[in-house]
Amino acid sequence: MQQKHNFGAGPCILAPSVMQQAANAVINWNDSGLSILEVSHRSAAFENVIRKTQLLVRELLNVPNDYSVLFLQGGASTQFAMVPMNFLQKKSRAAYLDTGYFAQKAIKEARLFGEVEIIASSKDKNYAYIPDYSSNDQRVAYLHCTSNNTIEGTEMFEFPGFGIPLVCDMSSDIFSRRINVRDFDLIYAGAQKNMGPAGMTLVIAKNKFLDSVKAEVPAMMDYRVFRDNDSMYNTPPVFSIYVAMLNLLWLKDQGGVEGIEKMNIKKANMLYQEIDRNPLFKGTANVAHRSRMNVTFKAIDEATEKAFLQFAEELGLVGIKGYRTVGGFRASLYNALPIASVEVLVNAMKQFENSRKL
Ligand code: PLP
Repeated sequence: MQQKHNFGAGPCILAPSVMQQAANAVINWNDSGLSILEVSHRSAAFENVIRKTQLLVRELLNVPNDYSVLFLQGGASTQFAMVPMNFLQKKSRAAYLDTGYFAQKAIKEARLFGEVEIIASSKDKNYAYIPDYSSNDQRVAYLHCTSNNTIEGTEMFEFPGFGIPLVCDMSSDIFSRRINVRDFDLIYAGAQKNMGPAGMTLVIAKNKFLDSVKAEVPAMMDYRVFRDNDSMYNTPPVFSIYVAMLNLLWLKDQGGVEGIEKMNIKKANMLYQEIDRNPLFKGTANVAHRSRMNVTFKAIDEATEKAFLQFAEELGLVGIKGYRTVGGFRASLYNALPIASVEVLVNAMKQFENSRKL
């Protein structure tokens, strides 16, 4: 079988050793004679798993003690509604940064619950940059941002909150770089990029912010219910949590978030350098806001684009076709993608250029 280099945007790219451990646990978990899929989520053994996973999140991201770490379901898309359902009352207002496809989805859901003010947008340039923003309106319930725009390939490197509670969708860059959790009142992320399999959503929230909720919300949409029941109000996504634990242990072995961040910078620099050097390609995102997780670029024309896609596929490079709203290519460089795969892609771009000169 040809070796594949997976540049896909997910769900769930994991190191081979983690995949192997997960596969073993499906057959016979820790020599218990049971599959991880069938053990009771109320068993001491699984309670140990969920506790350990929470502690790993705390350790790897330096989560302060006055923040809760929750494992929910429904993906980041449910958070688009859950955040305003909890924090945006009918008579209040929330501020949103409109930085791309997923930010737009979050805005659409928030409008169901109250007034939404878009304080800055990069829609004018097809979301190729992060807009400047500021706010001194202390009456807004929160300010919502998206740290990494998975489709457009832009990333925020600064997070001024202007004294307003800051809520951030970190689905596609959490655990890829250091963050200061104190900059945020609530962070959410679908697990399936750098944390583990789809099915689990991570929420890190300041307890004081959670305690400010006045709205009556259904139990499954109430952060406090999950906090007060240690993320076990109902059956948790057992397998996703277990594999996340394995993956976070792997991350610890890579030198933690600091170690992986160095590697991620190296991988992204290698690819952007080639995009900027190679006359057949050009980057689509503003240089200052280029994402380290999702590298978006185009070929000089459609015929070249098609030819390179085919060339890359023959070399085992998969998942590099860009999302339809941006076009071109998107190479996702999540934590588990080895630097060797980036080298293969860069060499493919060079070879492709040379083949055109003949
Ligand atoms: N937000 C961002 C930044 C994403 O990248 C994604 C999915 O890729 C989502 C939200 C939606 O996440 P989910 O599929 O978990 O609902």
